Amino acid sequence: MIFNPEYECMERDKMRELQSRRLVETVKTCYEKSPFYRKKMDEIGVKPEDIKSIDDIHKLPFTTKIDLRDEYPFGLQVVPQSEVVRIHASSGTTGKPVVATYTKHDLDVWSEGVARVMSAGGVTKDDIVQVSYGYGLFTGGLGAHDGALKIGATQLPTSSGNTKKQIMLMKDFGTTALCCTPSYAMHIAEAIESSHTLSLDDMKLKVGFFGAEPWSNGMRKTIEKRLRLKAIDIYGLTEISGPGVGGECECQDGIHIWEDFFYPEIINPETLQPVPEGEFGELVFTTLCKEAMPILRYRTRDLTRIRYEKCKCGRTAARIDRIFGRSDDMLIIRGVNVFPSQIETCLTEFPAFQPYYFITVDRINHEDSFEIKVELRPEFYVTPPEKQLVYVNPLYKRIVSVTGIKPSIKVVPPMTLERSEGKAKHVLDMRKYDD
Ligand SMILES: [Zn+2]
Repeated sequence: MIFNPEYECMERDKMRELQSRRLVETVKTCYEKSPFYRKKMDEIGVKPEDIKSIDDIHKLPFTTKIDLRDEYPFGLQVVPQSEVVRIHASSGTTGKPVVATYTKHDLDVWSEGVARVMSAGGVTKDDIVQVSYGYGLFTGGLGAHDGALKIGATQLPTSSGNTKKQIMLMKDFGTTALCCTPSYAMHIAEAIESSHTLSLDDMKLKVGFFGAEPWSNGMRKTIEKRLRLKAIDIYGLTEISGPGVGGECECQDGIHIWEDFFYPEIINPETLQPVPEGEFGELVFTTLCKEAMPILRYRTRDLTRIRYEKCKCGRTAARIDRIFGRSDDMLIIRGVNVFPSQIETCLTEFPAFQPYYFITVDRINHEDSFEIKVELRPEFYVTPPEKQLVYVNPLYKRIVSVTGIKPSIKVVPPMTLERSEGKAKHVLDMRKYDD
């Protein structure tokens, strides 16, 4: 179902008009009320009156994660605190978190974005939506919660963790839609499989909304098979609002971006110039109706491409490819660019392996080592290591052909790689600590 056809299916030229109006307003507000943006715009000699339509967006300065950290906590807020109804923050791996504040209207926009994705995945007021994203400062839990509320579905706010109880409630309450990270969805699938008392036959799951970390199409197929549901990719980031900046429709052919709220651009991360439609580059967002903390041209570090042709579902909202990696996640090993999600894709092609892995990179005798720990599914696990070669050799060849470099693959006993209840950690780069 299309939650808001007027905007999701708006004709392209009408959408550009709407975006133009909203951009002009946003830029005016930023210049008048934000010392940060006024300084940035003054530095490059751009005045609000230079921005007459969405075509002028490239004249505006970029915003980066470093800017957000420098302005911690409320430097980018342009409304008085009395207008703010909620604060979220993303856990930074280093230093201060990135903070986002919201007015009532901002929460409405955010929850509508989520509701559009859930609606596309078939959720109605008759559904029971289990929110197994963590509740708290992280935008996942409350974001999904408010989206389900907007539709009028029944929310089941289990938050993450306590997997056994999650599954018990899933069965007893008849959960039909599941929201969590793809890593946690796998973990839930595995817990059901290894249970002697629970079976998917007792469950009513039909759809899952998974996001907050990059995941491959292979992982999607694995989750769909192992949880017997349709797995929908929901995309978002705290800096822009939270989950639901966009999401897949029932066609699962790209992530629709809710362009009436968030304007997407793809730029070449080196030259910072826009790339032609269909070419890969870095995704950049400008918020078009955010009140508390509007953001101009935020560099997401997510690598993707954009398409504007109308989707089979009837929506005209632009589509980006699923995010296969962030430039921050990219490893350079022996001079070659490697994304951890490439390893996941390879693993999901071999049924003997679990889609779990852990990469360790180090520098030994001036050369990069590249070790991947993997797990065989219990029914395939054999020792000693020579007996594992029948499974490991084809995987090794596949990884070499996909990444172009030779890893050392180490099989660990079943259930020994960490199962994540939130975002999974896949990489340890020891080279960072060498110098
Ligand atoms: Zn579509």
